[in-house]
Amino acid sequence: MAKPLIVARDLSIIYNKGKSNEFKALQGVNTDIYEGEYIILFGPSGCGKSTLMYSIQGSLPPGEGTLLIKGDDVYSYPPSERVYFQRYVMGIIFQSFNLIGSLSVLDNVALPMIFCDTDKTTRNRRAQSLLDRFGVGHVSHKLPAMLSGGQQQRVSVARSMVNDPKILLADEPTGNLDSVSTQQVMDKIDEINTFDRRTIIMVSHNAAHLSYAHRVYYLKDGFIVREVVNPQRKQIKPVREGETIVTELEQLARLYPYDSVETLRVKSMVNFLTQEFTFDQIIRIERAIGLFIQGRVDRDSLIKSLILSPERGGVGISEREARAMATTAEKMIDRSADIKRFRARKDNDNIFFSQHKLAERMRDHLVHEFRIKLTKEQDENLIELIADRVTGVVTQEELNERLAKGVRARGLALSEKEADTMTRYFEKIIAQGVDVSYKN
Ligand code: ADP
Repeated sequence: MAKPLIVARDLSIIYNKGKSNEFKALQGVNTDIYEGEYIILFGPSGCGKSTLMYSIQGSLPPGEGTLLIKGDDVYSYPPSERVYFQRYVMGIIFQSFNLIGSLSVLDNVALPMIFCDTDKTTRNRRAQSLLDRFGVGHVSHKLPAMLSGGQQQRVSVARSMVNDPKILLADEPTGNLDSVSTQQVMDKIDEINTFDRRTIIMVSHNAAHLSYAHRVYYLKDGFIVREVVNPQRKQIKPVREGETIVTELEQLARLYPYDSVETLRVKSMVNFLTQEFTFDQIIRIERAIGLFIQGRVDRDSLIKSLILSPERGGVGISEREARAMATTAEKMIDRSADIKRFRARKDNDNIFFSQHKLAERMRDHLVHEFRIKLTKEQDENLIELIADRVTGVVTQEELNERLAKGVRARGLALSEKEADTMTRYFEKIIAQGVDVSYKN
């Protein structure tokens, strides 16, 4: 069986040891990282992520415990050997790029090869080909400051690969980048892992990155509090029997990375008590409904994606359920169009008549939906109440109260339960039809 590439056992890192400001930044850390793995060290600022990474990089010796790379204690190496290790075994990318401003992009990338046994032409050729590969070959003659942040980071990705390292370390590599550049840099790092089969260890506090990794170590206050396997990637680290099942808690930890285990347990329980769907299904339903609300898929496609099996990217519910869901969603979107129209004409006094018509239509919908029969007074009160609520004259709570109040108090005399259900439904429709900017 393959041995891990990087092994930490009861590793502690202590800053300012023996001084009054002594600080234990890492405590009792145990990790096994295998060749070819993509590992993310995740957690809030100050939890010790960078400390762990720089310890692996050979810059922070263990205060307690051991750290072995390929079975070797790099901290026992003589200085020259340690430098060799840092230069040829490890590549590194920093959040702030760390390019040399006075050198051209090409020279920046060629520089780490200066100690190699190759001539300048060969070095430049290799640097240029890496720059080409990472999409910045056309700016190789420029100074770093003339490049965008995303381009500079891709230059430093090229630089990190120049000595063909086994392990690539990345310290919040997209922390200073916009979302488009972030995507490009993340894709390049992913390619180095999947295509070049290099081991990646990345420090990040961006939850969106977690899906790239094989495994994530969650750190908090200097401890590794959780290790989560990404079920979407084929695992390299041998998983012991029983460990292959990805528990819901692990899944939740990926969705809500900053919540404590206790909170995740509560979420899991509440989900079970209140909803028949798993979190996975909810996420897929959200995606499908999102497209439907935006009008990017029609009713039939929505139903299809709800019925489709989970293995094929669907939700996996029955056709009957899917149709019922699509009907309700469609109805709500339809009615919300009336709400939009109503609100849009709110300031125009001359169209009172059509506003009244819109309120009547919504009344018809509610009466039909809840299968209730109303007296003439109740009917008038409901129309008034709808108009008041849609224009924001009454709050959700007042709507709810009025629905349960007697007819003479301009209510509908519904039971409390009926009033609650109708309020909830109507509020959902309003939510679809009213822009948030109206709230001010
Ligand atoms: P992260 O990368 O998760 O933001 P770090 O590993 O940089 O966290 O830091 C972990 C803790 O160690 C922090 O509380 C930080 O203030 C402290 N720390 C980091 N570097 C030093 C240092 N050189 N001397 C003293 N304390 C340090």
